[in-house]
Amino acid sequence: MNTDRGLFPIDLTENQIESEKSFVKFVEEDILPIADKIDREDDMPESVFERMTELGLWGAAIPKTYGGMELDNMTLGLLARALGRGNASILSLLIVHSMVGSVLSRWGTNEQKQEWLPKLAKGDAYASLALTEPQGGSDASNLKLVVEKEGDSFRVNGKKTWISGAQHSDVAIVVGSLEGKPTAFLIDLNEVEGLSRKKIQGMVGFRGAMLAELDFENCLIPKSSLIGRVGFGFSIVAGYALDLGRLWVSWGCCGISESCLKMSVDYSAERMSFGNKLLDHQLIQKMIADMMADVTSSLLVCYHTSKARDENGTAVDESAMSKYIASTASRRVSDNALQIFGAAGCSESSHIQRYWRDAKIMELIEGTTQIQQILLGRHAKRYF
Ligand SMILES: Cc1cc2nc3c(=O)[nH]c(=O)nc-3n(C[C@H](O)[C@H](O)[C@H](O)COP(=O)(O)OP(=O)(O)OC[C@H]3O[C@@H](n4cnc5c(N)ncnc54)[C@H](O)[C@@H]3O)c2cc1C
Repeated sequence: MNTDRGLFPIDLTENQIESEKSFVKFVEEDILPIADKIDREDDMPESVFERMTELGLWGAAIPKTYGGMELDNMTLGLLARALGRGNASILSLLIVHSMVGSVLSRWGTNEQKQEWLPKLAKGDAYASLALTEPQGGSDASNLKLVVEKEGDSFRVNGKKTWISGAQHSDVAIVVGSLEGKPTAFLIDLNEVEGLSRKKIQGMVGFRGAMLAELDFENCLIPKSSLIGRVGFGFSIVAGYALDLGRLWVSWGCCGISESCLKMSVDYSAERMSFGNKLLDHQLIQKMIADMMADVTSSLLVCYHTSKARDENGTAVDESAMSKYIASTASRRVSDNALQIFGAAGCSESSHIQRYWRDAKIMELIEGTTQIQQILLGRHAKRYF
């Protein structure tokens, strides 16, 4: 693995280049050697959490005031890109943790910030973001999890499912319906009585993302759990989190696609078939050219989205476009890679089959491909 930036190199500062080198070193030394084992065992070893704590990565998106690294959006992207090359489950755990950290930094009360941000930044506590419910994730504002006021507390009833990190997370942002309006709450999962967690395993990809279902049955949570205002849950809180999440997922997809491309070029330059190297066959060249086009367009759109977020603080349409381009690209690129590798790519000892399965999940999380298409189509008049 190297940090080449492809046919159209992206312009980075010295600091960003140095940071990227350290992320790549971490992935090469600590993640890639165990990446397939994590996938096979469908679990995340404690050593990964500890190493990320040592490197300060849990605080990547958290302000320095609370002990975080407060990385700019370009550097966050480079981190996601390196982790995408390593293991998508680790990336997804860091994404949801960071989405919670950044929502709290922006919308949390002083009390919520003081209590949770230093712990999240240090990796002394882990966070999840619980939006999806059993009846559907795309129609996320149609919530069946109900929250009612009760004296100085709220009573919570309902289920959240497919929640990354929820097997072990200490705290979660949970979006529920209060007075019929989507509203966000910060819930201490270790303290709340009446909550049960059901481990989810055996997914097609992201095997190691520690998914769980959260079942809240008559749970009482303090009034101080409210984030922002009643009705802020979907458009403001979840919207803010998804803006960051989509960008990170997109950069992670770049990592998957670049690894698949690099491995495919190396393999097809060696492998012989019909007396020629695979790379000398024009049908293989077509696949490689398509992969190069997908990698290049993904990287360029992610680069511009990070830049837009660094300059303007937000980039909603750009993030949706990045997610759309990079996730569909990584599905195609990993599919071509599997085709080029043949049976060798399907073996459990090959990273390719894992990239291929994880790339499919990338098309579902942080808004499916269809949801990005709907958002972009709805906003087309702004630009054309
Ligand atoms: C590995 C993994 C990790 C996840 N982690 C989290 C997490 O941490 N937190 C969380 O809240 N959720 C999480 N999710 C859930 C994820 O966000 C949802 O799967 C996603 O939002 C889609 O919801 P759904 O699966 O219920 O599909 P549905 O919403 O039921 O959609 C089914 C299909 O119909 C399409 N569709 C829906 N509506 C329309 C429409 N109007 N027009 C056209 N097509 C449409 C969708 O694109 C999809 O292809 C995770 C999922 C996975 C697989």
